[in-house]
Amino acid sequence: MAVPLLDLKAQYRAIRTDIDAAVKEVFESQYFILGPKVLEFEAAVAKYCGVPYACGISSGTDALLIAMMAENIGPGDEVITTPYTFFATAGCIARLGAKPVFVDIDPVTFNIDPSLIEEKITPRTKAIIPVHLYGQVADMDAIMAIAGRHKLVVIEDGCQAIGAEDKGRRAGSMGHYGCFSFFPSKNLGGAGDGGMVVMRDADRDTKIRRLRNHGMEPKYYHHMVGGNFRLDALQAAVLNVKLRHLDAWSVGRQANAKRYDQLFEASGLVAKGLVRLPKVVANRHIFNQYIIRVGQRQKAIDALKAAQVGFEIYYPVPLHLQECFASLGHKKGDFPESEKAAGETLALPIYPELTAAQAGEVVATIKAALA
Ligand SMILES: *Cc1c(COP(=O)(O)O)cnc(C)c1O
Repeated sequence: MAVPLLDLKAQYRAIRTDIDAAVKEVFESQYFILGPKVLEFEAAVAKYCGVPYACGISSGTDALLIAMMAENIGPGDEVITTPYTFFATAGCIARLGAKPVFVDIDPVTFNIDPSLIEEKITPRTKAIIPVHLYGQVADMDAIMAIAGRHKLVVIEDGCQAIGAEDKGRRAGSMGHYGCFSFFPSKNLGGAGDGGMVVMRDADRDTKIRRLRNHGMEPKYYHHMVGGNFRLDALQAAVLNVKLRHLDAWSVGRQANAKRYDQLFEASGLVAKGLVRLPKVVANRHIFNQYIIRVGQRQKAIDALKAAQVGFEIYYPVPLHLQECFASLGHKKGDFPESEKAAGETLALPIYPELTAAQAGEVVATIKAALA
């Protein structure tokens, strides 16, 4: 039985009538840029995240970029983040001419290790970008305390974590900005690219709204140099429908994670130390990914390929070792936990529609390969 890494067709089949109607409505209106659908979705996401302001943006990458633009981050500035994340987190820092300053991860959560942040702060440090990797919130209490002491801005990269919580607080609601992605494979995925910035501060919201539309307000009067970072009405219409299902999908992912935990425990692979399971430390892990650590990863991969079971490695090369960041002067060994994770992690199918039989097949395939 082939098991895909993600089955978006199954999701579409379940909500097709509502999605098709929402898309049709936008076509009938011929209102494609911003407008009522985007305003409706912004209000819904603000409410969902427990913050007063949300601004629809063209992608998660642009959400991160525009948040840094709003803080005037540029040449000569430093921004602290993790090297174990999707490229966009650090790419946006570099695109503004600022310097990404990496801090290694906590091996338990894969998120930035707050105990290593302060030694990297200099007079040039402007911001910290924690990433809530795989759908689990980073240690925000510790990060906000450090930011407060050093007057730094915190931009949460919640692109994998919409709806995740720590101590009852939603991802994106704890820092000065929260950034989300609606790339189709995210937990809340659109029919193309999309993103959002959420905020608690009215002035920041005003600035972000202007920046996303060429710094313009009213029409043809430009306060600052912004860009075209607008969210399409079509995306907002689709996402409005999908947001209503997000909590049920998160519950499905959590149930699948629990099932994997039980299957792996029963397989004997955990006791033998051949597979290590993800650990939930924050209150609400939404499992954008279910990540195991496997020492003999290549063996597992070969077996999964042969069995037509989908998998992925997020991420095989930590950012400090990427060619485009060679000028930062890093070398192998600089961030040992990130490098170790890059060599061991394996993402398994965790989408809500995954069946018990499919999960069983995934674990049995890995067991046959490693035992
Ligand atoms: C997906 C992702 C992004 C970028 O989002 P896009 O919408 O694809 O631009 C940024 N950071 C992280 C951690 C992501 O997973």
